[in-house]
Amino acid sequence: MEKEGVIKFNLRFTAGPPVAMDTLTELNTWRQILREHALIGQDPARYEGYGFGNISQRTGDPDQPHGKRKFVISGTQTGHLEILDNRHYACVIAYNAEANQVVAEGPVKPSSESMTHGVIYDIDNALRAVLHVHSPDIWNSATSQGIPVTSAAVEYGTPEMSREVEHLFSHTNVRRKGIFSMGGHADGIVAFGETVEEAGNTLLTALAGKQQR
Ligand SMILES: [Zn+2]
Repeated sequence: MEKEGVIKFNLRFTAGPPVAMDTLTELNTWRQILREHALIGQDPARYEGYGFGNISQRTGDPDQPHGKRKFVISGTQTGHLEILDNRHYACVIAYNAEANQVVAEGPVKPSSESMTHGVIYDIDNALRAVLHVHSPDIWNSATSQGIPVTSAAVEYGTPEMSREVEHLFSHTNVRRKGIFSMGGHADGIVAFGETVEEAGNTLLTALAGKQQR
C-alpha cells in the first residue's frame, strides 16, 4: 500500500511566523472532534504507523484568482499529535496542479494532500473548508451511501487526483453531497463545505451511515 503523508508535489516553502491563533478556532475545534472519532490520528496498526488526516480553511477574499486561494492547512505528519496550535499549521499561498507545485509558508511544511484541497477551492469559491480523513466505515460504505468515488487507479497527492476531483464535480452530484471517497487511497475520505462545521457534520453523518442528502 502507498505510504501516507509523503509529499509528491514540488514544494516551495518559506519558514515564517504562525497565523494568529484565533484564525484557527473553528478548524482546530473540529480537528478535535474528528480526532475523537479516530478520523484523524495515528495508530500503529494502520498505515504502517503513519499519522493520517489533514484539514484546511480558506482565509482570503472569496474572489481570489484560481491557484491563489489562500488557505491554512495542518502541517505534514501532525496526525499523531493530540492537540494542535498555530505552530502546526502552514499557509498555502499558491498552487498549480498542472505544474504539480505548491507555494507555502509558516512554521511547518503543509500537508502532503495540500494540492487536493487547493483544487477543491478553485472549483467553487463559495467553498471555505476541506477535511481529509481516514475512515474504513465510510470508505467501505461509500457506494451504498451514494457517495461519489474517485478512480481506484488514482493515488492521493498527484496531478491525476486533481483531474479526477474536477471530473467528479462535473459528472456527479458531489457538490451537493459535500463528500467523496478516494478509491485509490485506502480509507481516504474528503468532505468540504462553505464552513468547517458544514463539512464536519457531513463526515459525522456519513460515519453514522445515515447520509440522506
Ligand atoms: Zn490520506
